[in-house]
Amino acid sequence: PRKSTKSHIFLPHLVASMEQVEETYIMVKPDGVQRGLVGEIISRFEKKGFKLKALKLFQCPKELAEEHYKDLKAKSFYPKLIDYITSGPVVSMAWEGVGVVASARKLIGSTDPLQAEPGTIRGDLAVQTGRNVIHGSDSPDNGKREVGLWFKEDEICQWTPAQAPWLRE
Ligand code: ADP
Repeated sequence: PRKSTKSHIFLPHLVASMEQVEETYIMVKPDGVQRGLVGEIISRFEKKGFKLKALKLFQCPKELAEEHYKDLKAKSFYPKLIDYITSGPVVSMAWEGVGVVASARKLIGSTDPLQAEPGTIRGDLAVQTGRNVIHGSDSPDNGKREVGLWFKEDEICQWTPAQAPWLRE
């Protein structure tokens, strides 16, 4: 008889513990702030069930915008992008949760709002890539990097929402 191997055994508690708590950097861009969409956008993340860890209204300095978007430096739209992001206050947020990075990207929708599905933030609230209202980190590593870039340690709040046991078993 063949020896049984442990890899065949299903261990739900191990699967659960492998679910990684992530953080993502979400920013309502200057057009979203000017258009009065801050509450609507925060509300979508709150209702979904993610945890807000940090929040501020903030005029982004040019150097920070350049650091944030350094991977896009070679793009033709880069100078316009830096002007856009620094054109008025932004609302910076850190959200935490299992799978929050990919889920936030889904809630946000495609980069081009005309391609973004109805029901997504960009799909419902925007019409042009150059005014697409919101940013969300594109990977867990970038989530960490961007939260670290936009927030000081003492601006990040460690807390347990009262609803936690009603969101995850
Ligand atoms: P996303 O924000 O969806 O992750 P990217 O990382 O590709 O998208 O681009 C970052 C931001 O740069 C976009 O959200 C948008 O504000 C701007 N951008 C991207 N492509 C263009 C473009 N072709 N023209 C103008 N702005 C652009």
